[in-house]
Amino acid sequence: MANMGVISALAGRGDTIFSDRLNHASIIDGCLLSRARIRRYPHGDTEALAEQLAGTEGHKVVVTDGVFSMDGDLAPLAELARLCRTHDALLVVDDAHGFGVLGDGGRGSLSACGLGQEDVPVVIGTLGKAFGTSGAFVAGSSLMMDYLVQKARTYIYTTSMPPAIAAASTASIRMAMAADDRRAHLRNLIDRFRREAQAMGYALMPSDTPIQPILIGGAAEAMALSRGLEGHGIWVTAIRPPTVPQGESRLRVTLSAAHTEAHLDRLLQALAVCRQEIGLTAA
Ligand SMILES: *Cc1c(COP(=O)(O)O)cnc(C)c1O
Repeated sequence: MANMGVISALAGRGDTIFSDRLNHASIIDGCLLSRARIRRYPHGDTEALAEQLAGTEGHKVVVTDGVFSMDGDLAPLAELARLCRTHDALLVVDDAHGFGVLGDGGRGSLSACGLGQEDVPVVIGTLGKAFGTSGAFVAGSSLMMDYLVQKARTYIYTTSMPPAIAAASTASIRMAMAADDRRAHLRNLIDRFRREAQAMGYALMPSDTPIQPILIGGAAEAMALSRGLEGHGIWVTAIRPPTVPQGESRLRVTLSAAHTEAHLDRLLQALAVCRQEIGLTAA
């Protein structure tokens, strides 16, 4: 709802939106709702985007996930900010998976990249992931917020968030900001998972975040591995086409600060056993 409201408020007929090919479905819906021209650029490809921007006249908006929800990698935010400055485009970042997890005090992908409001004028976040409640927020200058409050239809024409959720979210954000120790623990789990799963022969993706996809390839093998892990009491969903391209089926391991080293031991042991049982070789 936040993405649909913000994107359709910031671009309209005659404008152009540049959207990363792997952007979240709600961004795509926002782009469609805006009636602007949509140009998708190859995932994280700032050279291709630079060419598209240079060849386009009029009002331009660039929109991207901060952390990509199926691959776990970060958008090249510093370079995107630079490009948007050069080509007079408005940069919008959806940091659903960054807030609470990345950056100092859990301030998200922008903080992790040393960027601020002058680099990224509009940032969207969800309260439903690290913050554990529900709803979403948009951050930016007060001028930008005034504009969005007047223009974002999904904000104006729906009932406000219930006060209890707002209070719970406020408490949750305070807790998340003070949780650098838990973020450090999560960081250790991520590093150890990557090291040991790769040593077993699993193909991981270039992700530095708690989203750690194991690239399997075939949909049937991915399903078999997911079922195998379930047999060990571990729930890891298989992601298959059409969510990801053909031949890129994967298991989406999602680590959290609530996991312990013992949980990770169990996951790694189960991955080793299942690998044998299913007869996986190289991905
Ligand atoms: C999950 C997600 C959303 C949607 O957030 P909800 O709170 O589940 O509605 C939007 N954008 C991205 C990038 C996401 O990963």
